[in-house]
Amino acid sequence: MEFYEVFTDLRKKMGFSQNQVADELHVTRQAVSRWERGETIPEPETLLALSRLFDVSVNTLLGSPRALVCQSCGMPLSDEFLSREADGTLNEKYCKWCWDDGRFAQDCTMEEMVEHCIPNMPLGQSDPEACRAYMRGLLPTLERWKTP
Ligand SMILES: [Zn+2]
Repeated sequence: MEFYEVFTDLRKKMGFSQNQVADELHVTRQAVSRWERGETIPEPETLLALSRLFDVSVNTLLGSPRALVCQSCGMPLSDEFLSREADGTLNEKYCKWCWDDGRFAQDCTMEEMVEHCIPNMPLGQSDPEACRAYMRGLLPTLERWKTP
């Protein structure tokens, strides 16, 4: 999906007119109709404002070009699992179980995170040892645990 398809879809689903979106975002109605014709896409700041207005991630607005993964526990992130900053903005880096109110929900080591995740994963229930090995390989590649 392209931005204009996602945008037009969400706008209609949420019952906004082009004018209302333009007012909310402080842009012209012409700008909004150019987005819907696929001629332009909004500036980054406007995308963020749209993300707040529609309550979806910027990644979703852009047609999900990136497969988001929580950079703390490795869980695949769809919008419903994204965490939020203290001001309500969606955080596209961490899941809602790892990040809360502008900081990490658990202050833990990588090994503690591995143990924390295992019971919540299907593989962890059927084969905890294999799951542990998998998580020990995955977590060091994530931003929270990467050593510079
Ligand atoms: Zn997480």
